Amino acid sequence: MEQGKIFCPICKKEAAWKDNPFRPFCSERCRLVDLGKWASEEYRIAGEKKTLPEDPVDEKK
Ligand SMILES: [Zn+2]
Repeated sequence: MEQGKIFCPICKKEAAWKDNPFRPFCSERCRLVDLGKWASEEYRIAGEKKTLPEDPVDEKK
């Protein structure tokens, strides 16, 4: 297994591992795309996880 090269998981292009601040991505753009994917997924999960009950207002009369 060669360690000098990687394949960007976003655009599947060959990218350098060494001296690559965006690894495992090929560029900042692909890194941001991946970050955006995670962010939107987290938003979705957070939106579905609304199991907390509303503020109890019965005690305050
Ligand atoms: Zn890429």
